[in-house]
Amino acid sequence: MPHNGAGPTRREVLGMGAAVGVAMVTGMTTRTATAATTGPIVLPPLPYAESALEPVISARTVSFHYGKHHKGYVDKLNGLIAGGELADLPLEKIVTKTAGNADQVAIFDNAAQVWNHDFYWRSLKPGGGGKPSGDLARAIDATFGSHDEVKKQLATAATSQFGSGWAWLVVDQGALKVVKTGNADNPLTKGQKPLLTIDVWEHAYYLDYQNRRADHVNAVLDSLVNWDFAAENFARP
Ligand code: MN
Repeated sequence: MPHNGAGPTRREVLGMGAAVGVAMVTGMTTRTATAATTGPIVLPPLPYAESALEPVISARTVSFHYGKHHKGYVDKLNGLIAGGELADLPLEKIVTKTAGNADQVAIFDNAAQVWNHDFYWRSLKPGGGGKPSGDLARAIDATFGSHDEVKKQLATAATSQFGSGWAWLVVDQGALKVVKTGNADNPLTKGQKPLLTIDVWEHAYYLDYQNRRADHVNAVLDSLVNWDFAAENFARP
């Protein structure tokens, strides 16, 4: 992906993106150059190369998903909030502040989709899958009985979401829970803490799997889910 030389440098982007991007920097060696946008909301760099999720998710899918869809939400949001008071708020605040407001639907939809995609890319990693260890593993066993059961519930949430949306592992009132949300909605609007997400909008899998959403979801759970990221989120207050 070409870097837009007119935009901010990566250092500036990282500085500006504290709310969304800084956690991605540590330990990453390969990332795609950031496509610069104008406005306070930044498209964070992918935490890996576009081809890094193959063969489960093709580079072509990641290229469109990140470079067109995710970037599109960032650009649209920047246009919508330009010059207004929301432009001074961190992304998460824009999401929670506009949720449920009938006259701010477009801002909410684009802000939540930016947040969801930032979170989604970090919910995956090359060589993922497997199981978490430590506190999260113990909590999963205590709540779901086994790791296989939480995977099964995530797969069910992802495949049963009617139309576009997201499957999530969250902490709700101190308890682990698998939930699904429609379109742009996310757990932040319900006071839940997201640990992990799977995007089940068709743009996430259709080039590679067409209508076989379950095959995509199961492959993601087996080979790409980033349990280290989920464990970091679980550990955070
Ligand atoms: Mn998506």
